[in-house]
Amino acid sequence: MARKVLTLAEVRDGALRNVSFEAISTAKTIAEGGEVVAVVVGASVRSLAPELIAYGADRVIVVEHEKLATYTPDGYAQALQAVVEQEKPEGIVFGHTALGKDLSPKLAAKWQSGLVSDVVAVEATGGNIVFTRPIYSGKAFEKKIVTDGLMFVTVRPNNIAPLEKDESRTGAVVDVQVDIKDLRTIVRDIVRKTAEGVDLSEAKVIVAGGRGVKSAEGFEPLKELANVLGGAVGASRGACDAGYCDYSLQIGQTGKVVTPDLYIACGISGAIQHLAGMSNSKVIVAINKDPEANIFKVADYGIVGDLFEVVPLLIEEFKKL
Ligand code: FAD
Repeated sequence: MARKVLTLAEVRDGALRNVSFEAISTAKTIAEGGEVVAVVVGASVRSLAPELIAYGADRVIVVEHEKLATYTPDGYAQALQAVVEQEKPEGIVFGHTALGKDLSPKLAAKWQSGLVSDVVAVEATGGNIVFTRPIYSGKAFEKKIVTDGLMFVTVRPNNIAPLEKDESRTGAVVDVQVDIKDLRTIVRDIVRKTAEGVDLSEAKVIVAGGRGVKSAEGFEPLKELANVLGGAVGASRGACDAGYCDYSLQIGQTGKVVTPDLYIACGISGAIQHLAGMSNSKVIVAINKDPEANIFKVADYGIVGDLFEVVPLLIEEFKKL
């Protein structure tokens, strides 16, 4: 059954986030041969449309307004509501990001629809679309189908592969004017705690430190290793609570959920709440002094040793590559 499916493109610092392309690929599966329409919202975002087409969008809707320069829930909801009313799609796909998690339930409630959140796989079975999502902090997976209403979906970053970028793809770019009413919130300033380096939720490589790192200075070798590998630094809550790093780096049940290609856990015991945020990483390397540490149960490669000896050796070896 061919469907029309919208996706919301996410923009940060003037560039599209990877999850925008993963949402398009998810929407392609849901559309089953129907049309995938990417929606990009902002103050000046039209120039991003060709990239969305190159990643598989059949059409791009551009909603530009000075009041949409930064994300606000009611501003974006007004923009998307107008587009959904005009387009009447069967589904709409967001990234399972801070923005997507904030906005999608607001719109789903407006349409009195359910929301399939945190999707890690999608399959078209010639009728129903089957969504897979983790439950019980990643200990099990459930499969869901939507039987009624507009399909609202959020996809976990780094799980569903984007389509190959192909600049020969063509598609229409359409401007939609939306009269944005007064906003209840106005963003005056954005203060970024992790201004430097790679975005944690989209990083392909993460080097994470726990209480075993012992101090803020102890994170320096981890930062260097992340740098050498082109990755980002993360942390356990133990490390954040101890004041070794900022809470914006926290990975786990009450922190960020990440799925990098490579996760290197240094001095992290592997509490269930930490595993909830990283156990779906493709390859997990654990460095811990304690051979009984729980982290070794989920690790593909385990190194029993002192991280202050092991990490410098890894830096040295990776620098040779
Ligand atoms: P520890 O458990 O103290 O482990 C430190 C590890 O470092 C040990 O295994 C030790 O052997 C090893 N070590 C020490 N020195 C070295 C060395 N030199 N070299 C190598 N290894 C060394 N935690 C999260 O991480 N994320 C969450 O989102 C989160 N949410 C929570 C929500 C709730 C409601 C609760 C109750 C808890 C939550 N926690 C979360 C906390 C979680 O239960 C653990 O307390 C925390 O993950 C422990 O952090 P850690 O592994 O760094 O510290």
